[in-house]
Amino acid sequence: MPLPFPTNPALQGVPVYQPGRPIEEVARELGLPAGDIIKLASNENPLGPSRLAQAAMRKAIAQVNLYPDGNAFYLKQKLAARLGVSPANLIFGSGSNEVLEFVGHALITPGAEVVVSQYCFAVYPIVTALFGGTLKVVPARNYGHDLDAMLAAITPQTRVVFVANPNNPTGTGIRREDLARFVNAVPANVLVALDESYIEFLDEPIDLLPEIRSGQKPNLLLMRTFSKIYGLAGLRLGYGIADAGLIAELEKIRQPFNINSIAQAGALAALDDTAHAEKTRRVNARGLKLYARAFRKLGLEFIPSFANFILVRVGDGQRVFSELQKLGVIVRPMGGYQLPEWIRISIGTSKENQRCLEALKSVIAPPVAPVAA
Ligand SMILES: *Cc1c(COP(=O)(O)O)cnc(C)c1O
Repeated sequence: MPLPFPTNPALQGVPVYQPGRPIEEVARELGLPAGDIIKLASNENPLGPSRLAQAAMRKAIAQVNLYPDGNAFYLKQKLAARLGVSPANLIFGSGSNEVLEFVGHALITPGAEVVVSQYCFAVYPIVTALFGGTLKVVPARNYGHDLDAMLAAITPQTRVVFVANPNNPTGTGIRREDLARFVNAVPANVLVALDESYIEFLDEPIDLLPEIRSGQKPNLLLMRTFSKIYGLAGLRLGYGIADAGLIAELEKIRQPFNINSIAQAGALAALDDTAHAEKTRRVNARGLKLYARAFRKLGLEFIPSFANFILVRVGDGQRVFSELQKLGVIVRPMGGYQLPEWIRISIGTSKENQRCLEALKSVIAPPVAPVAA
């Protein structure tokens, strides 16, 4: 039934985000015990949260009667010191997804153009539509960003360019010199919103923090998260790094207590657990190699990944997703990304990866029918 009152007309054009399926939901649906199901669908950390973070969070529970520190003072100090920037260069969001929304509030007005790449992260089009912006999708090159074409797509109406390095869902990486050239070539009146959710997985990360420290790049926003390598996706904590002037504008949008006290405590401790992050990186690198080798052997096309997931071409992605799910393995179908022949698999523990590969083999090569005598 239509609503009896008008809603924001921009809402009509807003696509719905389709998250990876939660283990409990699949367990209910299939009548399987939750413990039999593995989720390799949302690029989460298969090692779990750091033990240091867990201990800190348990301690913080005793104080949840109090509002959190609205400015996340200790976390901001520590992160700023770690990054070599000023606390005034940082803003926290309920996941970096909220930082993306801050960008929408601050810069995307009806008629503003937003440039993205084909196969970009699903939230960029959502945020653009939410604020009535016009999305300019630039065709990908080898499944990655065509930065020259993205530059060429910028017009006087363009306000924001979203770039993810590495990119989700394709896992592609941008070359150092290409990214540097791009960041310098984007006009000063267009924000480069650079999504670095997976930067910690790179062997040779491209460090753009000097651009922030220089104070000469007010149109550059770096976005990172505690959801991926830090294994704290359930806490919802991400952050933006930018010129203090831009951060001050974004701060006007942020709700005063958007980062809860458990999240602040967990993240603070997670920053100290470098062993956990290191181990995560190692397990991930090993898993990526395992999948690449297996896919080559199976003759499956895949996109070499710089992140903690891998995109593989399986034919009917939706069918393979459903069949894998019946076997208790949740992956991500890619139809929503205009990649219906592909699935995205998050790298798990070696046990999870083995199980996923075994299941995949059985699903893509159904047992041969007995030959009639
Ligand atoms: C996971 C992800 C995010 C955000 O995650 P949060 O949990 O909201 O911090 C942002 N961008 C990309 C490309 C991602 O893959």
